[in-house]
Amino acid sequence: MTTPLICRNYIANQWVNAASLDTLESRNPADNREVVATFPRSATVDVDTAVAAARKAYRSWRLVPAPARAEYIHKVGELLQKYKEELAQLMSREMGKPLTEARGDVQEGIDCAFYNAGEGRRLFGQTTPSEMPNKFAMTVRMPVGVCALITPWNFPVAIPCWKAMPALVCGNTVILKPAEDTPACATKLIEIFAEAGFPEGVVNLVHGVGQEAGKALVEHPDVDLVSFTGSSETGAFVASTCGRTHKRVCLEMGGKNAQIVMEDADLELALEGAVWGAFGTTGQRCTATSRLILHRDIKEKFTAMLKERTSKLRLGAGIDPNIDIGPIINQKQLQRVNKYLDIAREEGAKVLIGGEIATEGELQHGYFFQPTILDQVTPNMRVACEEIFGPVVAVIEVSSFEEAIAILNNTPYGLSSSIYTRDVNRAFAAMRDIEAGITYINGPTIGAEVHLPFGGVKQTGNGHREAGSAVLDVFTEWKTVYVDF
Ligand code: NAD
Repeated sequence: MTTPLICRNYIANQWVNAASLDTLESRNPADNREVVATFPRSATVDVDTAVAAARKAYRSWRLVPAPARAEYIHKVGELLQKYKEELAQLMSREMGKPLTEARGDVQEGIDCAFYNAGEGRRLFGQTTPSEMPNKFAMTVRMPVGVCALITPWNFPVAIPCWKAMPALVCGNTVILKPAEDTPACATKLIEIFAEAGFPEGVVNLVHGVGQEAGKALVEHPDVDLVSFTGSSETGAFVASTCGRTHKRVCLEMGGKNAQIVMEDADLELALEGAVWGAFGTTGQRCTATSRLILHRDIKEKFTAMLKERTSKLRLGAGIDPNIDIGPIINQKQLQRVNKYLDIAREEGAKVLIGGEIATEGELQHGYFFQPTILDQVTPNMRVACEEIFGPVVAVIEVSSFEEAIAILNNTPYGLSSSIYTRDVNRAFAAMRDIEAGITYINGPTIGAEVHLPFGGVKQTGNGHREAGSAVLDVFTEWKTVYVDF
Protein backbone atom coordinates (compact mmCIF):
# COMPACT_ATOMS: atom_id res chain seq x y z
CA MET A 1 0.00 0.00 0.00
CA THR A 2 1.23 3.45 -0.83
CA THR A 3 1.49 6.39 1.57
CA PRO A 4 -1.69 8.50 1.50
CA LEU A 5 -1.47 11.72 -0.46
CA ILE A 6 -2.00 14.75 1.74
CA CYS A 7 -4.27 17.08 -0.22
CA ARG A 8 -4.56 20.78 0.45
CA ASN A 9 -6.52 23.65 -0.99
CA TYR A 10 -5.01 25.72 -3.81
CA ILE A 11 -5.81 29.41 -3.44
CA ALA A 12 -4.03 32.37 -5.09
CA ASN A 13 -1.34 29.98 -6.41
CA GLN A 14 -0.49 28.66 -2.92
CA TRP A 15 -1.13 25.18 -1.50
CA VAL A 16 -2.75 25.97 1.83
CA ASN A 17 -4.41 24.22 4.75
CA ALA A 18 -8.02 24.95 5.56
CA ALA A 19 -8.79 27.07 8.62
CA SER A 20 -9.93 23.97 10.48
CA LEU A 21 -7.46 21.13 11.00
CA ASP A 22 -10.31 18.64 10.60
CA THR A 23 -9.49 16.28 7.71
CA LEU A 24 -11.35 13.59 5.79
CA GLU A 25 -10.03 10.68 3.74
CA SER A 26 -10.65 8.90 0.47
CA ARG A 27 -10.22 5.13 0.37
CA ASN A 28 -9.64 2.63 -2.39
CA PRO A 29 -13.11 1.21 -3.14
CA ALA A 30 -11.53 -2.06 -4.31
CA ASP A 31 -9.73 -2.44 -0.97
CA ASN A 32 -11.06 -0.20 1.73
CA ARG A 33 -8.09 -0.89 3.98
CA GLU A 34 -6.10 1.51 1.80
CA VAL A 35 -6.36 5.25 2.47
CA VAL A 36 -5.59 6.97 -0.84
CA ALA A 37 -5.66 10.56 0.36
CA THR A 38 -6.54 12.89 3.20
CA PHE A 39 -8.10 16.25 2.47
CA PRO A 40 -9.21 19.33 4.38
CA ARG A 41 -12.76 19.82 5.54
CA SER A 42 -13.03 23.37 4.27
CA ALA A 43 -15.56 25.77 5.73
CA THR A 44 -17.14 29.07 4.70
CA VAL A 45 -14.01 30.98 5.69
CA ASP A 46 -11.90 28.98 3.21
CA VAL A 47 -14.46 29.50 0.49
CA ASP A 48 -14.39 33.26 1.24
CA THR A 49 -10.61 33.33 0.75
CA ALA A 50 -10.83 31.42 -2.53
CA VAL A 51 -13.63 33.61 -3.88
CA ALA A 52 -11.70 36.78 -2.94
CA ALA A 53 -8.61 35.46 -4.78
CA ALA A 54 -10.68 34.54 -7.85
CA ARG A 55 -12.43 37.94 -7.82
CA LYS A 56 -9.11 39.82 -7.63
CA ALA A 57 -7.62 37.73 -10.44
CA TYR A 58 -10.68 38.22 -12.62
CA ARG A 59 -9.98 41.95 -12.99
CA SER A 60 -6.82 41.30 -15.01
CA TRP A 61 -7.51 37.80 -16.43
CA ARG A 62 -10.53 39.04 -18.38
CA LEU A 63 -8.24 41.53 -20.14
CA VAL A 64 -5.67 38.93 -21.22
CA PRO A 65 -6.29 38.34 -24.96
CA ALA A 66 -8.22 35.11 -25.53
CA PRO A 67 -5.47 33.54 -27.71
CA ALA A 68 -3.01 34.15 -24.85
CA ARG A 69 -5.45 32.61 -22.33
CA ALA A 70 -5.69 29.64 -24.67
CA GLU A 71 -1.91 29.13 -24.50
CA TYR A 72 -2.26 28.16 -20.83
CA ILE A 73 -5.01 25.64 -21.67
CA HIS A 74 -2.83 24.20 -24.42
CA LYS A 75 -0.03 23.80 -21.90
CA VAL A 76 -2.41 21.92 -19.56
CA GLY A 77 -3.18 19.57 -22.46
CA GLU A 78 0.52 18.87 -22.98
CA LEU A 79 1.05 18.26 -19.26
CA LEU A 80 -1.96 15.93 -19.11
CA GLN A 81 -0.31 13.93 -21.89
CA LYS A 82 2.90 13.81 -19.86
CA TYR A 83 1.16 12.69 -16.63
CA LYS A 84 -1.56 10.59 -18.26
CA GLU A 85 -0.44 7.22 -16.94
CA GLU A 86 0.26 8.52 -13.42
CA LEU A 87 -3.17 10.14 -13.27
CA ALA A 88 -4.93 7.08 -14.69
CA GLN A 89 -3.30 4.79 -12.11
CA LEU A 90 -4.26 7.15 -9.31
CA MET A 91 -7.83 7.30 -10.62
CA SER A 92 -8.09 3.51 -10.73
CA ARG A 93 -6.97 3.35 -7.12
CA GLU A 94 -9.12 6.20 -5.87
CA MET A 95 -12.42 5.51 -7.63
CA GLY A 96 -11.99 1.98 -8.96
CA LYS A 97 -12.40 2.53 -12.69
CA PRO A 98 -10.59 -0.08 -14.86
CA LEU A 99 -7.26 1.29 -16.04
CA THR A 100 -8.26 1.44 -19.70
CA GLU A 101 -11.30 3.54 -18.78
CA ALA A 102 -9.20 5.73 -16.49
CA ARG A 103 -6.83 6.40 -19.38
CA GLY A 104 -9.89 7.33 -21.45
CA ASP A 105 -11.01 9.74 -18.73
CA VAL A 106 -7.66 11.56 -18.82
CA GLN A 107 -7.70 11.47 -22.63
CA GLU A 108 -11.00 13.36 -22.55
CA GLY A 109 -9.25 16.04 -20.52
CA ILE A 110 -6.50 16.16 -23.15
CA ASP A 111 -8.98 16.38 -26.04
CA CYS A 112 -10.90 19.03 -24.16
CA ALA A 113 -7.72 21.09 -23.65
CA PHE A 114 -6.75 21.14 -27.31
CA TYR A 115 -10.32 21.75 -28.47
CA ASN A 116 -10.84 24.65 -26.05
CA ALA A 117 -7.42 26.11 -26.75
CA GLY A 118 -8.68 26.47 -30.32
CA GLU A 119 -11.66 28.47 -29.05
CA GLY A 120 -9.20 31.14 -27.95
CA ARG A 121 -8.85 32.10 -31.62
CA ARG A 122 -12.57 31.90 -32.30
CA LEU A 123 -14.99 33.09 -29.58
CA PHE A 124 -16.91 34.57 -32.49
CA GLY A 125 -19.47 37.33 -32.18
CA GLN A 126 -21.57 38.74 -35.02
CA THR A 127 -21.98 41.95 -36.93
CA THR A 128 -25.55 42.74 -37.95
CA PRO A 129 -26.98 45.51 -40.16
CA SER A 130 -28.41 48.43 -38.17
CA GLU A 131 -31.73 50.12 -38.97
CA MET A 132 -29.91 53.46 -38.85
CA PRO A 133 -27.43 55.04 -41.27
CA ASN A 134 -23.82 55.37 -40.25
CA LYS A 135 -24.12 52.77 -37.55
CA PHE A 136 -22.59 49.35 -36.95
CA ALA A 137 -24.30 46.83 -34.70
CA MET A 138 -22.49 43.83 -33.30
CA THR A 139 -22.45 41.23 -30.53
CA VAL A 140 -19.38 40.23 -28.54
CA ARG A 141 -18.85 37.51 -25.95
CA MET A 142 -17.92 38.75 -22.47
CA PRO A 143 -16.82 36.54 -19.54
CA VAL A 144 -19.29 36.01 -16.69
CA GLY A 145 -16.88 36.43 -13.74
CA VAL A 146 -16.07 34.07 -10.86
CA CYS A 147 -17.24 30.51 -11.58
CA ALA A 148 -17.81 27.77 -9.00
CA LEU A 149 -17.31 24.32 -10.52
CA ILE A 150 -18.91 21.52 -8.48
CA THR A 151 -18.14 18.06 -9.76
CA PRO A 152 -18.93 14.37 -9.09
CA TRP A 153 -16.49 11.48 -8.62
CA ASN A 154 -17.32 9.33 -11.64
CA PHE A 155 -15.22 11.30 -14.17
CA PRO A 156 -12.78 12.93 -11.76
CA VAL A 157 -10.51 14.39 -14.46
CA ALA A 158 -12.75 14.74 -17.52
CA ILE A 159 -15.62 16.63 -15.85
CA PRO A 160 -13.48 19.28 -14.11
CA CYS A 161 -11.68 19.78 -17.47
CA TRP A 162 -15.00 20.06 -19.34
CA LYS A 163 -15.89 22.93 -17.03
CA ALA A 164 -12.61 24.67 -16.22
CA MET A 165 -11.15 24.81 -19.72
CA PRO A 166 -13.98 26.64 -21.52
CA ALA A 167 -14.54 28.82 -18.43
CA LEU A 168 -10.90 29.94 -18.45
CA VAL A 169 -10.56 30.46 -22.17
CA CYS A 170 -13.65 32.71 -22.03
CA GLY A 171 -11.91 34.92 -19.43
CA ASN A 172 -13.50 33.69 -16.19
CA THR A 173 -11.68 32.67 -13.03
CA VAL A 174 -12.59 29.38 -11.36
CA ILE A 175 -12.91 27.60 -8.03
CA LEU A 176 -13.18 23.82 -8.22
CA LYS A 177 -15.02 21.95 -5.44
CA PRO A 178 -14.44 18.27 -6.28
CA ALA A 179 -16.36 15.28 -4.92
CA GLU A 180 -15.43 13.93 -1.50
CA ASP A 181 -14.55 10.51 -2.99
CA THR A 182 -11.87 11.78 -5.39
CA PRO A 183 -9.75 14.49 -3.71
CA ALA A 184 -6.46 12.98 -4.91
CA CYS A 185 -7.49 13.07 -8.59
CA ALA A 186 -8.57 16.71 -8.18
CA THR A 187 -5.32 17.60 -6.45
CA LYS A 188 -3.17 16.04 -9.19
CA LEU A 189 -5.23 17.79 -11.84
CA ILE A 190 -4.85 21.18 -10.18
CA GLU A 191 -1.11 20.53 -9.74
CA ILE A 192 -1.04 20.31 -13.53
CA PHE A 193 -2.93 23.60 -13.89
CA ALA A 194 -0.44 25.09 -11.42
CA GLU A 195 2.49 23.82 -13.48
CA ALA A 196 0.98 25.43 -16.57
CA GLY A 197 1.64 28.77 -14.85
CA PHE A 198 -1.74 30.53 -14.69
CA PRO A 199 -1.54 33.96 -13.02
CA GLU A 200 -2.30 34.14 -9.30
CA GLY A 201 -5.91 33.39 -8.34
CA VAL A 202 -7.14 32.36 -11.80
CA VAL A 203 -7.48 28.67 -10.84
CA ASN A 204 -8.43 27.68 -7.28
CA LEU A 205 -9.30 24.43 -5.53
CA VAL A 206 -11.33 24.03 -2.34
CA HIS A 207 -11.83 20.54 -0.93
CA GLY A 208 -14.61 19.61 1.43
CA VAL A 209 -18.07 18.30 2.04
CA GLY A 210 -20.87 19.20 -0.37
CA GLN A 211 -23.25 20.49 2.30
CA GLU A 212 -20.45 22.64 3.77
CA ALA A 213 -17.86 23.95 1.27
CA GLY A 214 -20.10 23.23 -1.73
CA LYS A 215 -23.10 24.95 -0.18
CA ALA A 216 -20.99 27.94 0.88
CA LEU A 217 -19.77 28.36 -2.69
CA VAL A 218 -23.26 28.15 -4.16
CA GLU A 219 -24.55 30.70 -1.64
CA HIS A 220 -21.58 33.06 -1.90
CA PRO A 221 -22.66 36.54 -3.04
CA ASP A 222 -19.48 37.10 -5.04
CA VAL A 223 -19.78 33.95 -7.17
CA ASP A 224 -21.35 34.78 -10.53
CA LEU A 225 -21.93 31.33 -11.96
CA VAL A 226 -22.26 27.76 -10.70
CA SER A 227 -21.59 24.88 -13.05
CA PHE A 228 -22.79 21.73 -11.35
CA THR A 229 -22.68 18.06 -12.29
CA GLY A 230 -24.15 15.52 -9.88
CA SER A 231 -27.38 14.07 -8.62
CA SER A 232 -30.77 15.58 -9.35
CA GLU A 233 -31.40 16.03 -5.59
CA THR A 234 -28.31 18.20 -5.12
CA GLY A 235 -29.00 19.93 -8.44
CA ALA A 236 -32.42 21.02 -7.18
CA PHE A 237 -30.78 22.66 -4.16
CA VAL A 238 -28.14 24.33 -6.34
CA ALA A 239 -30.77 25.61 -8.77
CA SER A 240 -33.04 27.05 -6.07
CA THR A 241 -30.14 28.72 -4.26
CA CYS A 242 -28.85 30.23 -7.50
CA GLY A 243 -32.39 31.41 -8.24
CA ARG A 244 -32.60 33.18 -4.89
CA THR A 245 -29.12 34.70 -5.18
CA HIS A 246 -29.41 35.63 -8.88
CA LYS A 247 -26.58 33.49 -10.20
CA ARG A 248 -26.21 31.92 -13.57
CA VAL A 249 -26.41 28.14 -13.19
CA CYS A 250 -25.62 25.19 -15.45
CA LEU A 251 -26.87 21.80 -14.27
CA GLU A 252 -25.95 18.32 -15.51
CA MET A 253 -27.78 15.70 -13.49
CA GLY A 254 -29.03 12.13 -13.46
CA GLY A 255 -30.24 9.80 -16.19
CA LYS A 256 -32.32 6.66 -16.73
CA ASN A 257 -31.06 5.86 -20.18
CA ALA A 258 -32.50 3.16 -22.39
CA GLN A 259 -31.25 1.10 -25.31
CA ILE A 260 -33.94 -0.16 -27.69
CA VAL A 261 -33.22 -3.31 -29.69
CA MET A 262 -35.67 -3.86 -32.56
CA GLU A 263 -36.38 -7.21 -34.22
CA ASP A 264 -34.32 -6.26 -37.30
CA ALA A 265 -31.20 -5.22 -35.33
CA ASP A 266 -27.69 -6.62 -35.68
CA LEU A 267 -27.83 -8.53 -32.39
CA GLU A 268 -24.06 -8.99 -32.02
CA LEU A 269 -23.59 -5.23 -32.36
CA ALA A 270 -26.46 -4.55 -29.96
CA LEU A 271 -24.93 -7.00 -27.48
CA GLU A 272 -21.62 -5.13 -27.45
CA GLY A 273 -23.55 -1.90 -26.89
CA ALA A 274 -25.60 -3.34 -24.04
CA VAL A 275 -22.64 -4.88 -22.18
CA TRP A 276 -20.53 -1.77 -22.44
CA GLY A 277 -23.44 0.62 -21.84
CA ALA A 278 -24.80 -1.19 -18.78
CA PHE A 279 -21.62 -2.37 -17.09
CA GLY A 280 -18.88 0.05 -18.25
CA THR A 281 -17.64 2.09 -15.26
CA THR A 282 -19.71 -0.39 -13.17
CA GLY A 283 -22.87 1.33 -14.44
CA GLN A 284 -21.81 4.51 -12.66
CA ARG A 285 -22.12 6.84 -15.63
CA CYS A 286 -24.81 9.43 -16.06
CA THR A 287 -25.20 7.97 -19.57
CA ALA A 288 -25.21 4.29 -18.47
CA THR A 289 -27.79 1.97 -20.02
CA SER A 290 -30.12 1.10 -17.18
CA ARG A 291 -33.08 -0.07 -19.28
CA LEU A 292 -33.03 -2.46 -22.21
CA ILE A 293 -36.20 -2.20 -24.27
CA LEU A 294 -36.36 -5.36 -26.38
CA HIS A 295 -38.75 -6.27 -29.18
CA ARG A 296 -40.57 -9.48 -28.24
CA ASP A 297 -39.35 -11.30 -31.39
CA ILE A 298 -35.71 -11.14 -30.27
CA LYS A 299 -36.16 -10.76 -26.51
CA GLU A 300 -35.50 -14.37 -25.45
CA LYS A 301 -32.53 -14.78 -27.79
CA PHE A 302 -31.00 -11.43 -26.86
CA THR A 303 -31.35 -11.85 -23.09
CA ALA A 304 -29.77 -15.30 -23.36
CA MET A 305 -26.84 -13.80 -25.30
CA LEU A 306 -26.51 -11.01 -22.72
CA LYS A 307 -26.65 -13.43 -19.79
CA GLU A 308 -23.92 -15.56 -21.36
CA ARG A 309 -21.69 -12.51 -21.94
CA THR A 310 -22.35 -11.11 -18.47
CA SER A 311 -21.40 -14.41 -16.83
CA LYS A 312 -17.89 -13.99 -18.30
CA LEU A 313 -17.26 -10.49 -16.90
CA ARG A 314 -14.49 -10.45 -14.32
CA LEU A 315 -14.79 -8.29 -11.19
CA GLY A 316 -11.76 -6.81 -9.48
CA ALA A 317 -9.63 -3.78 -8.70
CA GLY A 318 -9.50 -1.32 -11.60
CA ILE A 319 -5.73 -1.28 -11.45
CA ASP A 320 -5.65 -4.99 -12.44
CA PRO A 321 -5.46 -5.12 -16.28
CA ASN A 322 -7.29 -8.47 -16.36
CA ILE A 323 -10.61 -7.29 -14.96
CA ASP A 324 -13.69 -5.94 -16.74
CA ILE A 325 -15.66 -4.39 -13.91
CA GLY A 326 -14.41 -2.41 -10.94
CA PRO A 327 -16.03 -1.68 -7.60
CA ILE A 328 -18.90 0.63 -6.64
CA ILE A 329 -17.59 3.94 -5.34
CA ASN A 330 -18.40 3.55 -1.62
CA GLN A 331 -20.29 1.59 1.01
CA LYS A 332 -23.31 3.88 0.94
CA GLN A 333 -23.73 3.51 -2.81
CA LEU A 334 -23.20 -0.28 -2.58
CA GLN A 335 -26.04 -0.48 -0.06
CA ARG A 336 -28.20 1.69 -2.28
CA VAL A 337 -27.70 -0.66 -5.25
CA ASN A 338 -28.42 -3.66 -3.03
CA LYS A 339 -31.62 -2.01 -1.78
CA TYR A 340 -32.81 -1.62 -5.37
CA LEU A 341 -32.44 -5.38 -5.78
CA ASP A 342 -34.79 -5.89 -2.81
CA ILE A 343 -37.21 -3.45 -4.40
CA ALA A 344 -36.95 -5.25 -7.76
CA ARG A 345 -37.75 -8.62 -6.16
CA GLU A 346 -40.66 -7.15 -4.21
CA GLU A 347 -42.03 -5.61 -7.40
CA GLY A 348 -41.90 -8.96 -9.22
CA ALA A 349 -38.84 -8.57 -11.41
CA LYS A 350 -36.78 -11.72 -12.01
CA VAL A 351 -33.03 -11.71 -11.38
CA LEU A 352 -31.59 -13.37 -14.48
CA ILE A 353 -27.97 -13.13 -13.31
CA GLY A 354 -26.13 -11.37 -10.50
CA GLY A 355 -28.18 -9.55 -7.91
CA GLU A 356 -25.81 -9.86 -4.96
CA ILE A 357 -22.93 -8.08 -3.30
CA ALA A 358 -19.75 -9.94 -4.36
CA THR A 359 -17.60 -11.06 -1.44
CA GLU A 360 -15.39 -13.88 -2.75
CA GLY A 361 -11.68 -13.75 -1.90
CA GLU A 362 -10.11 -10.33 -2.24
CA LEU A 363 -13.45 -8.82 -3.26
CA GLN A 364 -14.53 -8.91 0.40
CA HIS A 365 -12.30 -5.90 1.09
CA GLY A 366 -14.03 -3.75 -1.52
CA TYR A 367 -17.48 -2.61 -2.61
CA PHE A 368 -18.29 -5.06 -5.39
CA PHE A 369 -21.69 -5.84 -6.83
CA GLN A 370 -22.29 -8.61 -9.34
CA PRO A 371 -23.31 -7.39 -12.80
CA THR A 372 -27.06 -7.84 -12.80
CA ILE A 373 -29.81 -8.35 -15.38
CA LEU A 374 -33.39 -7.91 -14.22
CA ASP A 375 -36.00 -9.59 -16.39
CA GLN A 376 -39.78 -9.19 -16.53
CA VAL A 377 -39.57 -5.54 -15.61
CA THR A 378 -42.60 -3.41 -16.38
CA PRO A 379 -42.30 0.28 -17.25
CA ASN A 380 -43.65 1.68 -13.98
CA MET A 381 -41.60 -0.42 -11.58
CA ARG A 382 -39.22 1.69 -9.51
CA VAL A 383 -36.21 -0.10 -11.01
CA ALA A 384 -37.43 1.06 -14.43
CA CYS A 385 -37.92 4.67 -13.34
CA GLU A 386 -35.26 5.60 -10.75
CA GLU A 387 -31.53 6.07 -11.25
CA ILE A 388 -29.68 3.18 -9.55
CA PHE A 389 -26.11 4.13 -10.57
CA GLY A 390 -24.68 0.63 -10.46
CA PRO A 391 -24.22 -2.47 -12.67
CA VAL A 392 -27.94 -3.24 -12.95
CA VAL A 393 -29.94 -3.31 -16.17
CA ALA A 394 -33.71 -3.77 -16.42
CA VAL A 395 -35.18 -5.66 -19.39
CA ILE A 396 -38.56 -4.50 -20.68
CA GLU A 397 -40.35 -6.31 -23.51
CA VAL A 398 -42.31 -4.42 -26.17
CA SER A 399 -44.38 -5.36 -29.24
CA SER A 400 -43.79 -2.41 -31.53
CA PHE A 401 -41.53 0.49 -32.37
CA GLU A 402 -44.13 2.99 -31.11
CA GLU A 403 -44.39 1.21 -27.78
CA ALA A 404 -40.58 1.14 -27.48
CA ILE A 405 -40.32 4.90 -27.96
CA ALA A 406 -43.19 5.60 -25.55
CA ILE A 407 -41.52 3.49 -22.84
CA LEU A 408 -38.11 5.02 -23.49
CA ASN A 409 -39.69 8.45 -22.94
CA ASN A 410 -41.53 7.31 -19.81
CA THR A 411 -38.99 8.81 -17.41
CA PRO A 412 -38.47 12.19 -15.79
CA TYR A 413 -34.88 12.14 -17.10
CA GLY A 414 -33.66 12.79 -20.63
CA LEU A 415 -29.91 12.39 -21.04
CA SER A 416 -28.82 9.62 -23.42
CA SER A 417 -30.67 7.04 -25.54
CA SER A 418 -29.98 4.43 -28.16
CA ILE A 419 -31.74 2.32 -30.75
CA TYR A 420 -30.44 -0.64 -32.72
CA THR A 421 -32.29 -1.15 -36.00
CA ARG A 422 -31.49 -1.66 -39.68
CA ASP A 423 -34.58 0.31 -40.71
CA VAL A 424 -33.53 3.83 -41.73
CA ASN A 425 -37.07 5.18 -41.37
CA ARG A 426 -37.29 4.00 -37.79
CA ALA A 427 -33.84 5.44 -37.11
CA PHE A 428 -34.95 8.90 -38.25
CA ALA A 429 -38.28 8.64 -36.43
CA ALA A 430 -36.35 7.76 -33.26
CA MET A 431 -34.04 10.75 -33.75
CA ARG A 432 -37.14 12.93 -33.95
CA ASP A 433 -39.29 11.41 -31.21
CA ILE A 434 -36.93 10.40 -28.42
CA GLU A 435 -36.94 12.93 -25.56
CA ALA A 436 -33.23 13.05 -24.72
CA GLY A 437 -30.25 15.32 -25.20
CA ILE A 438 -28.30 12.55 -26.97
CA THR A 439 -29.48 9.74 -29.27
CA TYR A 440 -27.21 7.03 -30.66
CA ILE A 441 -28.32 4.98 -33.65
CA ASN A 442 -26.67 1.53 -33.57
CA GLY A 443 -24.36 2.57 -30.75
CA PRO A 444 -24.41 2.31 -26.94
CA THR A 445 -25.79 5.11 -24.74
CA ILE A 446 -22.25 6.04 -23.69
CA GLY A 447 -19.26 7.56 -25.51
CA ALA A 448 -19.49 11.35 -25.68
CA GLU A 449 -17.04 13.35 -27.82
CA VAL A 450 -15.71 16.66 -26.46
CA HIS A 451 -16.43 18.76 -29.55
CA LEU A 452 -20.18 17.99 -29.51
CA PRO A 453 -22.77 19.44 -27.13
CA PHE A 454 -23.40 17.24 -24.10
CA GLY A 455 -26.39 17.40 -21.79
CA GLY A 456 -29.95 16.37 -21.21
CA VAL A 457 -33.55 17.50 -21.24
CA LYS A 458 -36.33 17.21 -18.64
CA GLN A 459 -34.94 16.63 -15.12
CA THR A 460 -31.42 15.88 -16.39
CA GLY A 461 -30.49 19.47 -17.20
CA ASN A 462 -31.63 23.05 -17.29
CA GLY A 463 -31.20 23.74 -20.97
CA HIS A 464 -27.46 24.36 -20.99
CA ARG A 465 -24.92 22.14 -22.70
CA GLU A 466 -21.38 21.17 -21.83
CA ALA A 467 -18.73 20.57 -24.47
CA GLY A 468 -18.76 21.65 -28.09
CA SER A 469 -19.21 25.32 -28.93
CA ALA A 470 -22.56 25.28 -27.05
CA VAL A 471 -20.64 25.48 -23.75
CA LEU A 472 -19.54 29.02 -24.66
CA ASP A 473 -23.12 30.12 -24.01
CA VAL A 474 -22.66 28.98 -20.40
CA PHE A 475 -19.38 30.76 -19.76
CA THR A 476 -19.99 34.02 -21.65
CA GLU A 477 -22.55 36.80 -21.63
CA TRP A 478 -23.59 38.31 -24.93
CA LYS A 479 -23.04 42.06 -25.17
CA THR A 480 -24.70 44.03 -27.96
CA VAL A 481 -22.69 47.04 -29.12
CA TYR A 482 -23.95 49.88 -31.33
CA VAL A 483 -21.33 52.10 -32.91
CA ASP A 484 -22.30 55.41 -34.51
CA PHE A 485 -19.81 57.01 -36.84
P1 NAD B 1 -23.78 14.46 -5.70
O1 NAD B 1 -24.90 15.33 -6.13
O2 NAD B 1 -23.88 13.76 -4.41
O3 NAD B 1 -22.43 15.33 -5.60
C1 NAD B 1 -21.94 16.08 -6.68
C2 NAD B 1 -21.13 17.24 -6.13
O4 NAD B 1 -22.00 18.13 -5.43
C3 NAD B 1 -20.04 16.83 -5.14
O5 NAD B 1 -18.91 17.64 -5.34
C4 NAD B 1 -20.67 17.15 -3.80
O6 NAD B 1 -19.73 17.43 -2.80
C5 NAD B 1 -21.46 18.40 -4.15
N1 NAD B 1 -22.57 18.70 -3.25
C6 NAD B 1 -23.33 17.85 -2.52
N2 NAD B 1 -24.24 18.53 -1.80
C7 NAD B 1 -24.08 19.84 -2.09
C8 NAD B 1 -24.71 21.03 -1.68
N3 NAD B 1 -25.73 21.02 -0.81
N4 NAD B 1 -24.29 22.20 -2.20
C9 NAD B 1 -23.29 22.24 -3.09
N5 NAD B 1 -22.62 21.15 -3.50
C10 NAD B 1 -23.01 19.96 -3.02
O7 NAD B 1 -23.51 13.45 -6.92
P2 NAD B 1 -22.45 12.26 -6.99
O8 NAD B 1 -22.95 11.13 -6.18
O9 NAD B 1 -21.07 12.77 -6.73
O10 NAD B 1 -22.52 11.87 -8.54
C11 NAD B 1 -23.44 10.97 -9.05
C12 NAD B 1 -24.57 11.70 -9.75
O11 NAD B 1 -24.04 12.57 -10.73
C13 NAD B 1 -25.51 10.78 -10.51
O12 NAD B 1 -26.84 11.18 -10.30
C14 NAD B 1 -25.12 10.99 -11.97
O13 NAD B 1 -26.14 10.72 -12.89
C15 NAD B 1 -24.74 12.42 -11.96
N6 NAD B 1 -23.87 12.74 -13.09
C16 NAD B 1 -24.39 13.46 -14.13
C17 NAD B 1 -23.61 13.76 -15.24
C18 NAD B 1 -24.18 14.54 -16.38
O14 NAD B 1 -23.40 15.08 -17.16
N7 NAD B 1 -25.48 14.65 -16.55
C19 NAD B 1 -22.28 13.32 -15.28
C20 NAD B 1 -21.77 12.58 -14.22
C21 NAD B 1 -22.58 12.31 -13.11
